[in-house]
Amino acid sequence: MSAFYLTTAIDYSNGEPHLGHTVEKVGADVIARYRRAVGDDVWFVIGMDEHGQKVAQAAEQGGRSPQEWVDEIAATFVSTWAGLDISNDDFIRTTEPRHEDGVQALMERIRESDDFYSAKYEGYYCAGCEAFKKEDELVDGECSLHPQRSIEWTDEENWFFRLSSYRDFLLEHIQENPGFVRPASRRNEILKLLEGGLDDISASRSRISWGVDFPGVEGHSVYVWFDALPNYITAVGYPDGPAFSDRWPAALHIIGKDITRFHCVIWPAMLRSAGLELPETVWAHGFINFSGGKLSKSSGKSLEIPELVERHGADALRYFLMREIPWDSDRNFGSADDFVAQFDQRVTTDLANDLGNLLNRVVAMVTKYRDGRVPPPTDGGPGPDLAADTARALAEYREKMDDYRLHLGIAAAFGLVRAANSFVDETKPWALSKAEGDGAAPQALDSVLGDLVRALGATAAMLAPFMPSKAREIWIAVGGEGDPPEFGALDEAMGGLAAVRKGDVLFPRPE
Ligand SMILES: [Zn+2]
Repeated sequence: MSAFYLTTAIDYSNGEPHLGHTVEKVGADVIARYRRAVGDDVWFVIGMDEHGQKVAQAAEQGGRSPQEWVDEIAATFVSTWAGLDISNDDFIRTTEPRHEDGVQALMERIRESDDFYSAKYEGYYCAGCEAFKKEDELVDGECSLHPQRSIEWTDEENWFFRLSSYRDFLLEHIQENPGFVRPASRRNEILKLLEGGLDDISASRSRISWGVDFPGVEGHSVYVWFDALPNYITAVGYPDGPAFSDRWPAALHIIGKDITRFHCVIWPAMLRSAGLELPETVWAHGFINFSGGKLSKSSGKSLEIPELVERHGADALRYFLMREIPWDSDRNFGSADDFVAQFDQRVTTDLANDLGNLLNRVVAMVTKYRDGRVPPPTDGGPGPDLAADTARALAEYREKMDDYRLHLGIAAAFGLVRAANSFVDETKPWALSKAEGDGAAPQALDSVLGDLVRALGATAAMLAPFMPSKAREIWIAVGGEGDPPEFGALDEAMGGLAAVRKGDVLFPRPE
């Protein structure tokens, strides 16, 4: 078994989980479940980024102490992810002692490499970005991303990290490892940034008390990004936990496209400075945009995550997000209404009609024509060949999923659903049954019914990472036990499917 450690960005503790967080966690969970199904030893970590000025300000506005505030927010995120069946193995919070100790150990290592120096910093700071801003980055004296926040002038003694000295190393690493920053659009942005040269960056803040103490420097805390990024190593036991050497380096960091500079430039430089290996891949997913501007709730359509889960169930929401939002680019919706209307539409056409109805028809026909017994595989005959379609869909699915093209993976699974529906229309099992009644041999109908059952079994295995509960229902309905098997055991398990079982309606049609 090969180790596959994957992480998502840790979420900032200044508000409730929203759709952007949700797409990222669901996508990561799909990858985690898929890697388990190909036999990897997966370790999947998500968590919370709980320090920094923005959190302290949000707590104050909420009338809480920072710790009370982050405890409440963390509880909300944990229950949201549980409601979406996110199968993380750990949940790291940057206020935990295991994390704070690890950050301090990492800072010590970087200091030993002589990569910190003290200097006076004078300039602007945007608490919204938790980042220092140069004069020429401001628009009308405000951060272009946070025009509603006032930018602060800071004038303090800081510890700086010699980021500039890692520029050549990073450029070479990214050029030689095309898989390090993906997709390619993000890689090109980072290469361009590196070609322009790098400045050293501040790694500490004075006068900010809500953070990890900067080791050896009285009154300084670790700058929030130098505190947040190391969660990926502290969560697996850095510096000396027993699991660290087994888990690190990570196979995959999943992040939003707005924080690639931190993950593809600053983080690898920190790791290199500390003598640690770099992650294999940083994948930057795109965003959901609403062209109608801010999410309007004027019509009463809510995009709150618990309400979207309530609407058609967790599996349906997971499906919709993964099918509609390309994992490697953005997806635009007109408005909240538009989003909900498309969600309803997908549930009706893809899940209730195409998939649910197919399962229902196949189970009913096997029950009616063969007393529920699943005919074993045959060599196939003339006419449409669903067994070949099934093999092709599995191969395409595996190829896309191995390449993290999740939206194309799920499309391959639904391509097989469509092929199976056409196969029913073309082979007309009811006519074959009538022909048997008139004395025809049973092989033709055996082959049709058996191939349909096995196409559904393969569909269940392909859908399992996306819709874990519904995939189990499908697998049980076609005669399997428990969850669909790992891909390596699928052929044998499908050969053993013996009898169908009638279950509940898979997806009720939306009203
Ligand atoms: Zn900002």
